[in-house]
Amino acid sequence: MTPGTDPAEPQRDLIVQRQDLIVQRPEGLYCPPGGFYIDPWRPVARAVVTHAHADHARRGHAHYLAAAPAEGVLRARLGDITLQTLRYGEVVDHFGVRVSLHPAGHVLGSAQVRLEHGGQVWVASGDYFVAGATHDPREDNATCAAFEPVRCHTFITESTFGLPIYRWAPQRELFAEVNAWWQANADAERASLLMGYSFGKAQRLLMGVDARIGPIVVHGAVEPLNRAYREAGVALPPTLLATEVTDKALFKRALVIAPPSVQNSVWARRFGDASDAFASGWMQLRGARRRRSVDRGFVLSDHADWPGLQRAIQATGAARVIVTHGYEDVMVRWLREQGLEAGSFQTEYGREDDAVAPDAVAGTDASSPTTEAIDLPTPE
Ligand SMILES: [Zn+2]
Ligand SMILES: [Zn+2]
Repeated sequence: MTPGTDPAEPQRDLIVQRQDLIVQRPEGLYCPPGGFYIDPWRPVARAVVTHAHADHARRGHAHYLAAAPAEGVLRARLGDITLQTLRYGEVVDHFGVRVSLHPAGHVLGSAQVRLEHGGQVWVASGDYFVAGATHDPREDNATCAAFEPVRCHTFITESTFGLPIYRWAPQRELFAEVNAWWQANADAERASLLMGYSFGKAQRLLMGVDARIGPIVVHGAVEPLNRAYREAGVALPPTLLATEVTDKALFKRALVIAPPSVQNSVWARRFGDASDAFASGWMQLRGARRRRSVDRGFVLSDHADWPGLQRAIQATGAARVIVTHGYEDVMVRWLREQGLEAGSFQTEYGREDDAVAPDAVAGTDASSPTTEAIDLPTPE
């Protein structure tokens, strides 16, 4: 009998012969037939970069490929790199692998990477944001192209907020809270210091707040990114640098947007007795708010919440899902309960932006990054 004539054989042969389009290597996620990496953490010859957050877009690669809207923010962060860009949906052929980039809704220029080769389609999501409960376009990230589900056989998903406790409230509710806080402070002649990451979060906040309440001041770390967003056509409201403000009385009605590192800094002292707040998905955890010791915690994330992850994964139609950075174990268990083939990749992502709990020690066991998270509701 020749191999393959036994009815049990063909399937086994398929499994044996199936070549994964993306595998783990010490340098990062690698596409063997294409000879390139996706978001590698060590210097490589060819890197496809999903977005410009520092843990995904690192220095030192010889050649970068990214989505066209990412160009400005990538150059703002990495300087003079050899960069090729693709419009969303545009296809390039690389050693027989058809490569295209699709919106991930996470930050300006963020992309999912679609690879097609030998009849297989794989999609690596990078980080993504998609509204969980609704298809309401008002829930999309207004600072970038909205997440687009891409059909595939294998989907590589992040799981930063891959626990059932993470469910984001509608953005209009969240921004109503932020605006009410700012307005109350302005009425009391007190500056409002709102901390969030410089790239992505700061621009989300700028887009969402009501700029009629008062002047908006941004930290110097935020400004180059704002410039890149504006140059890409994102209509952020007018902002000032603190050094541009000559009349200090203006600070009393101001919203000040700055990275978390300014808390208790000399820089922040110029605003006097400001009310301070922190915007992050981690603010959903009471303990995180307490340890941050800010007046207010606003739950705003650039990552999908638990229902969002589920909806995004289901929309791909993938039979196989590989989970990266976050709550891999919980996510893998849930996926297997759905009858999917699931596993995880160990990556070095999650060292910047929301991917790091502000008070959690980097590199802690993914299953217990915070004390609150230990008491897990069962995945549903
Ligand atoms: Zn990111
Ligand atoms: Zn990430």
